[in-house]
Amino acid sequence: MKSIASSKYLACLVGSIVLNLLFIINIYVGGQWKLSWSLGAAIEAETVAAIYCSGHGRAYLDGLVVGNKPVCDCNTCFTGPDCSYFIPHCTANADGLESVEELLRDLSMHSYSGDPLFLEPFWMQHLASSALVVAGWHQMSYTYGGESFFSKELAKVVRKVHASVGNAVTQNRFIIFGAGSTQVLSAAVFALSPENTSSPAKVVTSVPYYPVDKQQTQYFSSQKFKYEGDAYRWKNRSDCSSTNMIEIVTSPNNPDGQLKKAIFHGPNVKTIYDHAYYWPHFTPIPAPSDEDVMVFTLSKLTGHAGTRLGWAVIKDETVFNRMMIHMRMNSMGVSKDAQLRAFKLLNAVLEEGTGIFDFAYQTMKSRWERLVQTVSLSNRFSLEENNPQYCTFYNKVRQLSPAYAWLKCEREEDKDCYAVLEAANIIGRQGNLFGAEDGYVRLSLVRTQDDFDILIERLHKLITEEDGDKTM
Ligand code: PMP
Repeated sequence: MKSIASSKYLACLVGSIVLNLLFIINIYVGGQWKLSWSLGAAIEAETVAAIYCSGHGRAYLDGLVVGNKPVCDCNTCFTGPDCSYFIPHCTANADGLESVEELLRDLSMHSYSGDPLFLEPFWMQHLASSALVVAGWHQMSYTYGGESFFSKELAKVVRKVHASVGNAVTQNRFIIFGAGSTQVLSAAVFALSPENTSSPAKVVTSVPYYPVDKQQTQYFSSQKFKYEGDAYRWKNRSDCSSTNMIEIVTSPNNPDGQLKKAIFHGPNVKTIYDHAYYWPHFTPIPAPSDEDVMVFTLSKLTGHAGTRLGWAVIKDETVFNRMMIHMRMNSMGVSKDAQLRAFKLLNAVLEEGTGIFDFAYQTMKSRWERLVQTVSLSNRFSLEENNPQYCTFYNKVRQLSPAYAWLKCEREEDKDCYAVLEAANIIGRQGNLFGAEDGYVRLSLVRTQDDFDILIERLHKLITEEDGDKTM
């Protein structure tokens, strides 16, 4: 009996091996995959990627299309069918739209300041490791295996990236995803607000703050929480000791790049650390962050702002569960296509070792060197102090290389620094949007190389004409 069963098993095994071999022989021809359904998609992707835009633009499958054919989408100040024509007096764009008022004024959203397109050349050099082909039937369900809106595999790769950089503790922590860190930050505010309370939690940020925290909190303001402005304003108020406070700490900070620390501590205080820029591109990494709620984003790590994928690393399970409820109520989870793309990109990041960080840090460092050199010729403008710190990622002392420059107009008469720059064809962001004075302007340094080159050229011209201005 036993020997009949084992010979049947053996026959089955041999049959299955033969079938598999035939299958493998069928799909391999001379050591090459014989692609079937993905071939058209691959040809389409490579064809669009090969469209020549003179290094000043890109063509996209779902971008500008003329008569069914994708055409070049040119960088600011460039035009023509292959983006080779430079528009001589165009404006240097070192700004973008981040306020509700501005969004209403310019629904076209032509420019978006924090767009980290400086990373585009890296991905153009890593086409194979980052390309993705997706079948029409792929992950159609709302959930992964009926369990969760979030990919466990993506969470695993996120933990690996943090471990390889050493910028956050993720062991025994919960991870949640959102449509960009913008949604994650909003979910965290909801989750940290008290339930059933007559007095809403005070949400504060310290000046200069990231404007979206204020705008978003005001926009979603509810019985649970209310935006209450600059954290310093509340610091020594006795009535705060018994009030629920939520402090959003943007570290490194947008706009000034500083590694901020929380101002409030205590039993009634909840803190959200926005670590969007806590990557070696922008800052020394003194130690892995180990805060209760830490928010990160693919936008500033790989530059894929359009994928809309952010995450939070959370210590407390109740906070995590409340954020999960928010994600369910707010958007029934997060796009699985975005999660898949993030999964692919973060695996490519890991495959390259320190590659993306070296590229990003070198790019930002060299941009800062050019900016500092330009501004050093001026008595009219100044930049924040840049105190070097030890970076555990590079094992050396290094300076900050923030995504933005927080430029100050030093002259008494230049109270409106934005206007001073605007007159020189440079568009920045007014200091008052960050809760600061208008003697400050934020300039974005993470846009395309074209944007940065034009910014430096305009700034240089303005500064070299400085003394002439004064005598006029
Ligand atoms: N936090 C900070 C400090 C930012 O500067 C930005 C982007 N400007 C974000 C969060 C939002 O990023 P995203 O929603 O693309 O993840």
